[in-house]
Amino acid sequence: MKITCPCGTSKNYEHCCGPYILGEATPPSPEALMRSRYTAYTKANADYIAASQTGPAAQSFDANASKTWAQQVQWQGLEVFNSEQQNDIGFVAFRANFKNNEQAQNIFEKSEFRRIDGKWLYFDAVKITRNDLCPCGSGNKYKKCCLK
Ligand SMILES: [Zn+2]
Ligand SMILES: [Zn+2]
Repeated sequence: MKITCPCGTSKNYEHCCGPYILGEATPPSPEALMRSRYTAYTKANADYIAASQTGPAAQSFDANASKTWAQQVQWQGLEVFNSEQQNDIGFVAFRANFKNNEQAQNIFEKSEFRRIDGKWLYFDAVKITRNDLCPCGSGNKYKKCCLK
């Protein structure tokens, strides 16, 4: 049976986020890590989420609350708009779509990643102000684009 990876590449789970989540391989880029974290959320795998972050993200993380929430919502897919990497710091802009009580919701974020001892980790969400260019790459201000 062919199971496409929840993160939205058209690859099989076994050839996409699976090996990262099972600990058989290390995500080679911030985007690969970000995708695997989304996939881990669709499986309510709080252990993987916890193990793939550091800094502010790790400090504010509540494993039980995250697990409960991840099980409660219906995951609808991931859109990755942009990935950047410079040495040991990377950024990925994305939208994670889900339904909560039949309501379509999403998390729209530009995430910061750090490479520590050769491993990419989620570090923090980048603050986007209303007048910044929207991280989705539309060329419009955030307030006139994805903030709506
Ligand atoms: Zn994947
Ligand atoms: Zn936008």
